[in-house]
Amino acid sequence: MIFKKGNKLNSILPIRCPQCHKGKFLEKPVYNFSSFTKVRSKCEHCNLNYSLEPSFYFGSMYISYGIGVAIMVATSIISNWITNVFSFKATFIAICAVLLILGPYINALSKIIWANIFFKYRGE
Ligand SMILES: [Zn+2]
Repeated sequence: MIFKKGNKLNSILPIRCPQCHKGKFLEKPVYNFSSFTKVRSKCEHCNLNYSLEPSFYFGSMYISYGIGVAIMVATSIISNWITNVFSFKATFIAICAVLLILGPYINALSKIIWANIFFKYRGE
């Protein structure tokens, strides 16, 4: 772990269980499209039930919206900085490409951030 024990980033960045930071959170790796960022039913390590209620992860779309907007702003700033002239078309294409490539990761990230809002780290 890079961050101090119990830091939520230890769960969010590697997409691990929000309670023990050890167990896997998703069924398959992020870029495996056969089960697109599907969350496991419970942690294999600490047995935490990942879904508090049916459709629990619908709320994570607010977070993915926020991440998406932040990435759009960052991409437009970087693409204008690289090309040095503002081109709506070039910026639009750059944003679409970045969002398409990062889409699955943004989706997984929003779910694990959402879970970290509701679950606390409890150590071993
Ligand atoms: Zn766990």
